Amino acid sequence: MVSVRSFIHAEVSRGAFPAPSGAEAYSEYAIASAEDLIPEMESAARQTLDHPLTFEMLGKGLEGWAMGELASFRRRCGDNLIACLESFLDVEPPGPSHIWVGCPYVSRRSTPTGPVVGVLPLWLQELLSRSRDDLKLQVYKSPLDIHSRIREEYAKSLQTHLDCKFCVAVHVKKGFAYCAELEKRLEQARNKVSLPFYFSRYHELRFASRRYGDSSSHLSLAYPSPRNQ
Ligand SMILES: [Zn+2]
Repeated sequence: MVSVRSFIHAEVSRGAFPAPSGAEAYSEYAIASAEDLIPEMESAARQTLDHPLTFEMLGKGLEGWAMGELASFRRRCGDNLIACLESFLDVEPPGPSHIWVGCPYVSRRSTPTGPVVGVLPLWLQELLSRSRDDLKLQVYKSPLDIHSRIREEYAKSLQTHLDCKFCVAVHVKKGFAYCAELEKRLEQARNKVSLPFYFSRYHELRFASRRYGDSSSHLSLAYPSPRNQ
């Protein structure tokens, strides 16, 4: 078992396994969970974000508390992505979206002669709002892969607005860097969520008790099972 565990650790570390698809990601998570392979659990949990989380996907290999942890992990990743998209809906500098203020199709003035009030161009406002709202409504039913789709969605949305010289000029000068920043921040928002502390701690204790042949009733009292929390 130790050699298999070492082999899996080594292969995952060097990226030897191709990214699993669909139910395979959940199956890998279930196997890693059953074997207390904590780094592989975290890796598999991240892979599941690229797929919907449904009962069909979960299958029968996961214990109830592990399903709950996976759902909680996904929810927190979704919340981070939503917060990231909301930061791009904010047009106040130094936020990255202030470069789009000035589109003549949506420019607003506080008074007839007053300063222009910052408003995002409608095509961009709708893109970011729709992406955020989809996450709010379908965090479990849809893949959390907006970072890999946002550039294509941006291009589609901008195509509906090519008669606006202002937006086209901003896109030519700064659109590439803006999209790169949006992709980077979305990916960071997704990746910065880690599995709950007690989740990993519980597995470390289970692994230690197996290793030393200890029933670990005292450990169970010190670190109660996630089932009881
Ligand atoms: Zn415009």
